Amino acid sequence: MEAVTSERLIQGSGTPEDVWRDWLRERQTASLCDTSWLLRAQRVVVVAPHPDDEVLACGGLLAMRADAAGEVLIVAVTDGEASHGAAPGAAANAMAERRRAERLTGLQRLGLEGASLVRCGFPDGRVDRCEHALTQQLAGLLRASDVVIVSWRLDGHPDHEAAGRAAASACATLGCRLVEVPIWMWHWAAPDDEQVPWQRLAALPVEPLSWLRKQAALSAHASQLTARSAALGPVLDAAICARARRACEYFLI
Ligand SMILES: [Zn+2]
Repeated sequence: MEAVTSERLIQGSGTPEDVWRDWLRERQTASLCDTSWLLRAQRVVVVAPHPDDEVLACGGLLAMRADAAGEVLIVAVTDGEASHGAAPGAAANAMAERRRAERLTGLQRLGLEGASLVRCGFPDGRVDRCEHALTQQLAGLLRASDVVIVSWRLDGHPDHEAAGRAAASACATLGCRLVEVPIWMWHWAAPDDEQVPWQRLAALPVEPLSWLRKQAALSAHASQLTARSAALGPVLDAAICARARRACEYFLI
């Protein structure tokens, strides 16, 4: 993962999960915002910059909504073709195809084989250049009653941030409820980091069976879970996988 902004660097191994675990346990007792309405929303729209972000962001929520037959729309912003650094061409196309298939398997394992999926096909790593087009596409897809879940605008990855800005803009126009999800924030930030709006943090406990489905869904993304080359480890390293095993999912609401 490349370094991104001067303040929100995604490099090294990041903040260890046991540090977060202790800190989150303390906050839990201080009662985070209620999130049960996420399960009751008429439709949840997940704007996922890359295949796997829907699982990392809210795989547990999606599995629980699948159980309740709650309507879900996945907006796939990119096909993730640049995860292994391939330049546009045959190798990138093959990676995109592989990741599209991994995403479908992951959604099936969440119980979402019937969910609607819209593929935007914007270039992986260059979503910022297509931000206006993404905003317009979202505006055409969203309903005022939707709850829209997207990577946080200040998450640290440029695609995550551009998707977050586009979704925020479309939601503001249409009146949808916006929920942002920190994904890479857990890597670059430390507990009580002043760049993070902790007062907006909300936790959703994931039911055990849905938790298992989330783990199965993440394992579908094999291209991201194995070393990219002799010198480069997996995109989804041990720290990210440890965060995906939390008993709760965390949102900025
Ligand atoms: Zn991503």
